[in-house]
Amino acid sequence: MKCPKCNSSMKEVKVKIQDADSPVTSYQCGECGYFDFEEKSMNRAIGEIKAKEAPLKIKQKIIKLSHDRLGMYINRDVARSLNLKGGEDVYVSVPDKNRLIVNLVHS
Ligand SMILES: [Zn+2]
Repeated sequence: MKCPKCNSSMKEVKVKIQDADSPVTSYQCGECGYFDFEEKSMNRAIGEIKAKEAPLKIKQKIIKLSHDRLGMYINRDVARSLNLKGGEDVYVSVPDKNRLIVNLVHS
């Protein structure tokens, strides 16, 4: 690979980016200091960083309260992050067969 600025050959260097698991490939010119990232490896690293910033996801069990009534505990971390105290009104919606969405009613 040639440097687009000075046409010298560029050095391929793997760069480790914080929070990304895969290194990013970069091209560096030793002559003029031109520096560029390889797009594919850059996009992969960005995807990995985004995955780590994904919202809180925890596994819980639906518990049987009585006969045909079911319940679910609100985990302490979830309650804290949503500032729940108990007694809040919520909207429950079922957009498809795999999801149960609980929306807080903000007064
Ligand atoms: Zn150069």
